[in-house]
Amino acid sequence: MPIAIELQAPDLAPHRKSNTGTDYVHTFDSGKPGPHALVQALTHGNEICGAIVLDRLLRQGLRPTRGRLTLAFANIEAFARFDAANPYASRFVDEDYNRVWTPATLDGPRDSVELRRARQLRPFIDRADFLLDIHSMLEPSPPVMICGPLDKGIRFAFDVGIPRDIVSDTGHSNGTRMRDYGGFGDPSSPKNALLVECGQHWERAAEHVAWQSTWRFLRHLDVVDRAAADREIEASVPPQRLIRVTEAVIASTPSFRFAKPFSGLEVIPRQGDVIAWDGDKPVRAPYDNCVLIMPVPNNVKTGLTAVRLGRIVPA
Ligand SMILES: [Zn+2]
Repeated sequence: MPIAIELQAPDLAPHRKSNTGTDYVHTFDSGKPGPHALVQALTHGNEICGAIVLDRLLRQGLRPTRGRLTLAFANIEAFARFDAANPYASRFVDEDYNRVWTPATLDGPRDSVELRRARQLRPFIDRADFLLDIHSMLEPSPPVMICGPLDKGIRFAFDVGIPRDIVSDTGHSNGTRMRDYGGFGDPSSPKNALLVECGQHWERAAEHVAWQSTWRFLRHLDVVDRAAADREIEASVPPQRLIRVTEAVIASTPSFRFAKPFSGLEVIPRQGDVIAWDGDKPVRAPYDNCVLIMPVPNNVKTGLTAVRLGRIVPA
């Protein structure tokens, strides 16, 4: 069944020119000491909930009360190709913008639309103390906060307070995410970063999660007017839980299929229970209470991750 496009891609043309000299990247300085907070949308061009949030904040004229605030639309070229009739096509142009974040790749000889944009954004990322990178997911699944492998990221996710599920992981084998770049991935650095997966790309609820996450991120850093933040933020939210990713399940045959129509965050009660079939081979839960993270039952590709598995960490 095709997924409904409930969200409308905003017109970003008014945000192209900026005060930074880099198109679609806006920095505001409060003139007072404080951290530099950066919120990024459109890391992937078809993940429009974050773009809706930044568009609204810019139109409302949000300014920091302390430190600096940067609002950045990342993969504008992919976004420009967004077509509601073919919405999956505009994730990126040449390569995944969120797999190039190492000095070796950024300083290296390769060229692509995404590398050019990453090189433009890099000085802002280098200067930022705190990053919120807003994403959404291919298939309908509850929202999750991806906080990376470090304790400081886990603490930050609990400080922001939503979504309910926090996923601690080590990223992807095919390249480094912005979330893990430089000081964000260094336990001795005070820098910190979060990546929020707000829900399915085009569902109404994803916009709500993106809006709430952004305001909570900014309120926690104390860089915006507290009363304004309190007006926007839903006070009553469920307690959070931490899930630590233990492994990725890679589909090794074209006939990989899940045992049930999983949509994410299901808990498989017993070690040995069958999660999926990869050809004739069962994929079994490696331990009790195994959590399925972002399965892609309708989009499994041979050689790529079909689902990640995680353990719930006792509070
Ligand atoms: Zn994404």
